Amino acid sequence: MNRFALGDIVVLKKQHPCGSNTWEITRTGIDFGLRCLGCGRRVMIPRTRFERLVRKVTKAAAPPDGGR
Ligand SMILES: [Zn+2]
Repeated sequence: MNRFALGDIVVLKKQHPCGSNTWEITRTGIDFGLRCLGCGRRVMIPRTRFERLVRKVTKAAAPPDGGR
């Protein structure tokens, strides 16, 4: 079972230089892609590191559109 899915919003223990610590998941796998909700910057970090940094997960509000 996958704890994390595309579009989920995560709060990390690590704060981005812009002051936000809230990120959207843009990619899952061995590496996770994250987009900062403060400034829009995208980063990639290894899954193992990501899992240690996560403080809170908010599932995506809307389910994906018909699996398209
Ligand atoms: Zn930022």
